[in-house]
Amino acid sequence: MELLRPEATVLSLGERVLSFDREGRPYHYFRQGLTYKRALDGSLHLRYREGARRRRRLGEEEALAVYGEILGLAEAHLRDPERRAEVLRWTPEALWDPTPYRRAYPWPVSILPPDAYLSVVLQATTGCTWNRCAFCSFYQDRPFQKRSPSAFQEHVERVLELLGRGRLLRRGVFLGDGNALALGEPLLPLMETVQRTFPGEPVLGFLDLFTGMKKEVSWWARLGALGLRRVYLGLETGHAPLLALLNKPGHPREALSLVSALKEAGLSVGVILMVGAGGAAYAEAHRRESLWLLAELPLDREDVVYLSPFQEQPGTPYAALGLEGLPDLEAELAAWAEALRRMGLRVARYDIREFLY
Ligand code: SF4
Repeated sequence: MELLRPEATVLSLGERVLSFDREGRPYHYFRQGLTYKRALDGSLHLRYREGARRRRRLGEEEALAVYGEILGLAEAHLRDPERRAEVLRWTPEALWDPTPYRRAYPWPVSILPPDAYLSVVLQATTGCTWNRCAFCSFYQDRPFQKRSPSAFQEHVERVLELLGRGRLLRRGVFLGDGNALALGEPLLPLMETVQRTFPGEPVLGFLDLFTGMKKEVSWWARLGALGLRRVYLGLETGHAPLLALLNKPGHPREALSLVSALKEAGLSVGVILMVGAGGAAYAEAHRRESLWLLAELPLDREDVVYLSPFQEQPGTPYAALGLEGLPDLEAELAAWAEALRRMGLRVARYDIREFLY
């Protein structure tokens, strides 16, 4: 059976389901318990369950074989002539080719919150102004740079070229990289470009305490008028000694005035906490003080608390500390989630291993 949606083509063949964007590129292929997802850079990612949830990125040979299989199924079963032409103009090699992605994103998109995987990422800045948190390896490959209005316009055009009609699948604009919202006045012309190019689309972005603190309600309201809807705040913990260990600037309690300012400006907030950071030694204080702080924040049903199961990244200063991890991270995560739900807060999982753009 084929479903011809304006934004996608879906081919449902019993135990196999294939989804294509309107450029004809497969973005999702389900086959008997295995889910393959194509990222915009052409890489192919497998997700499946084997007790726990597993995930891996396919090597070239395997990816080309799966792309070949997908195209073979489309050739045999896709009937609609327009959709058929969209899909069958591709070859496995063209689907795998990262060149169009690299043209749009010379610095790849490193991470997004889970509900922003299907946004359009526009890098107002690249890298992170701080780049020294002990656990973070997302932007170690690049210096912090902000884009001028003309460089940003060019970047937007390249992203639009890359997406083509695949843009129909996407909702919202995510302003990259790590802390584009650290910018002051230079952000305004970039936001205007976003608003002109994606009218009415909600704009999202990361923020950290140390970059958000200096800004007034009126500033956030100004960005709100330019389309900013949600800010993802990397709070990480409510326990100040742990935040210091993580080498992240600021004090957790500064979140009170920052979140109040964001809410007063009409923005929604996603507060990110890293469950398991600091390992067993910090577990109790981390949970207790984070929950206290979250209870004090003026969050409502528009807002979400994201619980991120902490993943130690090899080679980071955090890994060098050699801290003992939690015996059962999933149980700890469940305990946090339950406590937060009892407080009436919306909770979502933010697993960085699931990131895909
Ligand atoms: S966690 Fe955020 S502030 Fe810290 S280095 Fe990474 S991107 Fe920068």
